[in-house]
Amino acid sequence: MERKRRCHALHEASVAFSILKAAEEVLEEHGVPSDAKVEALEIEIGALALIDLESLKFALEVLSKGTRFEGAKFNIRIVTPRFRCKRCGYEWTVKADDLDDEVKLFIHFAPDKVYEMLRCPRCGSRDIEVVEGTDVKLKSIRLAEERKG
Ligand SMILES: [Zn+2]
Repeated sequence: MERKRRCHALHEASVAFSILKAAEEVLEEHGVPSDAKVEALEIEIGALALIDLESLKFALEVLSKGTRFEGAKFNIRIVTPRFRCKRCGYEWTVKADDLDDEVKLFIHFAPDKVYEMLRCPRCGSRDIEVVEGTDVKLKSIRLAEERKG
């Protein structure tokens, strides 16, 4: 258990780093001055991304120290996994709580194996794919200064 947590924390730290880097790039692309403070980041995380939210928030706070993201609110929304049957086209969502941990691990580390573990609820086919629910996405950035001019 302890080893698992530590391994997780490392994973979350790299995810947090990617999120902040992506946010910084977006701000630069939009010509936002480098001293403009960020008030909030909206982040979407697939329920199958296997991310520990506590560790992620902690990593975001640590990594944002001394940057324009310091003190920002990190609003995280969990995206329900969605699957699609490649045979009949049926799409369905599954609450992460309803999935076995084993299935979640396979989706994360060996997506090909998912086909062997899940079935289409309509036609029973095992030829299915994950449409969404495994990604981490930066949805929006809110800047602190609303008072302009
Ligand atoms: Zn089907």
